Amino acid sequence: MTKYIFVTGGVTSSLGKGIISASLAKLLQERSYKVTIQKLDPYINVDPGTLNPYEHGECYVTEDGAETDLDLGHYERFLNTPTSQDNNVTTGRIYQTVINKEREGAYLGKTVQVIPHITDEIKRRVQLLAEKNNFDIIITEIGGTVGDIESLPYLEAIRQLKRELGTENCLNIHLTLIPYLSAAKELKTKPTQHSVKELLQAGIQPDILVCRTEKSLSKELKQKLSLFCNVDQKSVIEAIDADTIYDVPILMLKEKLDTRVLKKLKLKTTKKPELKAWKEFLGRHKNPTHEVNIGLIGKYNELPDAYKSIYEAFVHSGATNECRVNVYPIHSERLETGEFKKYFKNLDGVLVAPGFGERGIEGKIRAISYVRENNIPFFGICLGMQCAVVEFARNVMKLKKAGSTEVKPKTSDPVISMMEDQKSVTHKGGTMRLGSYKCKLKKSSLSHKAYGRTEINERHRHRYEFNSAYAKKFEKAGMSLTGINPENNLIEIIELEGHPFFLGVQFHPELKSTVEKPHPLFVAFVKAALKHKLNEKA
Ligand code: GLN
Repeated sequence: MTKYIFVTGGVTSSLGKGIISASLAKLLQERSYKVTIQKLDPYINVDPGTLNPYEHGECYVTEDGAETDLDLGHYERFLNTPTSQDNNVTTGRIYQTVINKEREGAYLGKTVQVIPHITDEIKRRVQLLAEKNNFDIIITEIGGTVGDIESLPYLEAIRQLKRELGTENCLNIHLTLIPYLSAAKELKTKPTQHSVKELLQAGIQPDILVCRTEKSLSKELKQKLSLFCNVDQKSVIEAIDADTIYDVPILMLKEKLDTRVLKKLKLKTTKKPELKAWKEFLGRHKNPTHEVNIGLIGKYNELPDAYKSIYEAFVHSGATNECRVNVYPIHSERLETGEFKKYFKNLDGVLVAPGFGERGIEGKIRAISYVRENNIPFFGICLGMQCAVVEFARNVMKLKKAGSTEVKPKTSDPVISMMEDQKSVTHKGGTMRLGSYKCKLKKSSLSHKAYGRTEINERHRHRYEFNSAYAKKFEKAGMSLTGINPENNLIEIIELEGHPFFLGVQFHPELKSTVEKPHPLFVAFVKAALKHKLNEKA
């Protein structure tokens, strides 16, 4: 029988429920349990695919092509196992399902209500994951903060589930903040007491409190929390601020979060997790012998969450190379006018980010010209790859009007154009080319050497593509088309002969980089940047 753990958040948002959930899952996985993490998001968008990255950060795409919350990226990076459409459900999707059923007459004339119809659908979505995959444990993170109007149906659903499935099979973990008041030189428990009261009002008694804090919790303070929040003292867990999110599983292991969870769920506590590979990664991450500077050219730089997976992929691939990767965000619009070379002064490599729409495109193209001509390692992802194709067409092939039809629908040389099956699409959300597709690599290409094999699977999220009518012309001019989808012949990877490292990919490698499996293209890019740096110095 599957066991369910629900993680709620109190006092404030941004406490790191995703990281705590992923860390706990990691520890349980190390103890040989088959575990996954699910995120329930209380907003009304059907999925985050239509959300501007400024609103909600990166949209994370799963193998099966779901556009999901960026927390799923953390789950995969920590657990090294793929998630799916079922791992992220929003209020919008819940209502959509219920309303569609109502239109089909499935409720037989009954009045459709939040309780029981919406709450039943929430419970069904939680249990569906277990039914489909045979998990031992499912950790479900409830987005938002306890006390939000929008979270109420979720709290009601998990209250009901615990009653139905029994206390041994369901566990509530409440993540809360213990603020430090510097004037009083004291940690304060009152906000947590209030937050637990709020939960109690919804009929939920937390089993474990995880307390985010900047200072260590004393025994007395834990006793106080235990007393006022009605949680046994051993289940008051300290979650002290960490240098890196990758420290959190180690901290949770020290605090025995996993042991408490297993005891309460009446599961066997096997031998303590060793986290061997994890610790090795941390050792390399924290003690680099080299350092490189990478420019990240994008248009959502004000919000680093918009490029979350790219930043994390640099952490993983940096550790593999025993190299600190300093990522410098550069706003593409700033590169559009005037003197822009100053931005490239101390860079050992440049990554041009994915994106949509016209803003900042010309800046990206200018940057690519510069790195191409100056032999600086270049990595273009999705839109970044498309910009590299346009740049090459304009400046090497002398097709001065070349462009992408996303930006210039009537360009005379549409080297990037809309995919055939996208032309009839009018609906937004879940309608792009999404998810994992096969790609065949040309032998001895840069990508083949990086992956060490000729067939790969990578995730996609785009509407436009390399226009294969131009393929021969590009190859003649010196651009190698080194990755092709074997089913539909779409061109997925471009490289430049004679350049130390010039790589553009139509897919999103950053989504598949994990602690245990850093992405080979990121590893190769960091290596090339390091080589460039050492050559410059020599
Ligand atoms: N806007 C481009 C397209 O739709 C690139 C998308 C992306 O970078 N994810 O094809």
